[in-house]
Amino acid sequence: MAKKLNGTVIVTYRCNARCTMCNRYKAPSLPEEEISIETIKKLPPMYFTNITGGEPFIRQDLKDIVRELYKKSDRIVISTNGFFTDRIIDLCKEFPNVGIRISIEGLEDTNNEIRGLPDGFNRGYSTLKKLVEMKHPDVGFGMTVQDKNAPDLVALYKKSEELGMEFATASLHNSFYFVEAKNIIHDRLMVAQNFEDLINELLKSNSPKKWFRAYFNHGLINYIFGQKRLLNCDMSFDTFFIDPYGDVMPCNGTKDKEVMGNLNTQTWDELWNSSQADEVRAKVRCCDRNCWMIGSVSPAMKKYIWKPTLWVIKHKFLRLFKKKKYSMYENKIVRDYRDGKVTKEDLDKLSTCDVCATINDGLSKASKEILKNQSGEDIVNKDIESQGYTKTEKNNS
Ligand code: SF4
Ligand code: SF4
Repeated sequence: MAKKLNGTVIVTYRCNARCTMCNRYKAPSLPEEEISIETIKKLPPMYFTNITGGEPFIRQDLKDIVRELYKKSDRIVISTNGFFTDRIIDLCKEFPNVGIRISIEGLEDTNNEIRGLPDGFNRGYSTLKKLVEMKHPDVGFGMTVQDKNAPDLVALYKKSEELGMEFATASLHNSFYFVEAKNIIHDRLMVAQNFEDLINELLKSNSPKKWFRAYFNHGLINYIFGQKRLLNCDMSFDTFFIDPYGDVMPCNGTKDKEVMGNLNTQTWDELWNSSQADEVRAKVRCCDRNCWMIGSVSPAMKKYIWKPTLWVIKHKFLRLFKKKKYSMYENKIVRDYRDGKVTKEDLDKLSTCDVCATINDGLSKASKEILKNQSGEDIVNKDIESQGYTKTEKNNS
């Protein structure tokens, strides 16, 4: 039997939010070009599937997509901004095992400033509460930690605890997928200090899953200081992303879109075993972007399990028997920065932030064409108005 893969399906590039760290809302896909059920039927067996966007619930046929994906995937998690509450609840009623991760970017004011959705926090939070009330088993927050929201990190984690939810973190990345090249953490020590506090909360718990989350957050400190990934990146070997146009890609972290093949026109076996796919794999082998996003780290943590396990054992031991908490200064680069051996400018150079970069948004010709006459925001506003929703006002700059 074929080996099961880890897949992410980007069902749309349309998005109704206006996040400060992602310009995807300015570069939507055309609905008629977005991945069809026929193409989804051609995907391989998967042990895990993440459905993402843009905002996936903008698609009115999302339930059909999930139904089809359940025929080939053991577990499905949908990442959403939580705006389309009724659609989320409705889908969860039909699929009681589906995971839902709602991005909440901080406490109320911070979230609304970063996400740019009117009343975004209350909307996302009330969607989460409704899911908890209906006892949906797999619900969680997702937070992209940055200078603006780092001080809210532990408070949000505690809120997720109160509600009995998962709490997932990320930090700023630049890529064609985010249509962004200027994301960067400025006050690294402050952000790392908040990660350190979260790591200690996670290590304090009795849940092994949280101890491994602590390791993931330790990797985020390493990432924001521009260091080599703690674990190899094996994207495109047993993990893939597929975009709204049916293009299969290694990941969502590359500067430009890297295509292994197209599932609209090829079979899975053709594209996965093609020389084009091998060329992309060769690029992955020497990729120096050092992303630390759950999509590429979670499979690596499973594959190289001994490394996070040793880290967890060491830190649980230190905590229990030596009363010693985790410190961000365990990372040499953090000590070097504190001691003035490296400067902020040195660290900025190690990041993927490139203010002069030309950004490839990965859009098709037809999607680019329509952007010549109107903005992505106008296109999506008209789109969601035609679906019976109030358009999204931009409330951040
Ligand atoms: S981060 Fe997600 S919700 Fe925010 S603009 Fe990008 S796609 Fe939309
Ligand atoms: S480090 Fe891995 S996930 Fe990041 S761009 Fe390179 S191949 Fe993709």
